[in-house]
Amino acid sequence: MRKVLQVGHEHLTRVVPELEDLTNLKVYRNHICELIEVCEEMNGMACASNQIGESVRMFVMKNLITGEYKAYFNPWIIEGNGRNRGLEGCLSFREPEVQYYVRRKQNIKLKYADINGDEQIEVFVDLEARCIQHECDHLNGITFDKIGKLK
Ligand SMILES: [Zn+2]
Repeated sequence: MRKVLQVGHEHLTRVVPELEDLTNLKVYRNHICELIEVCEEMNGMACASNQIGESVRMFVMKNLITGEYKAYFNPWIIEGNGRNRGLEGCLSFREPEVQYYVRRKQNIKLKYADINGDEQIEVFVDLEARCIQHECDHLNGITFDKIGKLK
């Protein structure tokens, strides 16, 4: 399994650039598999590319109902509504494991490219919305200790 970078690692603070060419995202299949393996092994719901030291503007997230993973390339939150404060964990805060309370939008509209390079717009609520905001922060070099309150 790929090692997940832990807080303090400089790579986690860098903004991951957008992918300009979306015509052959299947070249990232192996990378997607690595991220899924990390989630499975560490019991996480999602993981961003830069958390394992790569620089692809993408994260994977598990659908908690179907158990299937999906990759979200160039994710962009185009709308957010409502507010809620909730407790979050992070694969990059496991040594030692800590959790943070973070204020997030309750529901979001996300634009992203799927593995075929097709643009998708999808609405997410509650836990999935929270998770996506957390992963988008990672891709912008932001970890939740910068914006939340330690439990
Ligand atoms: Zn995280």
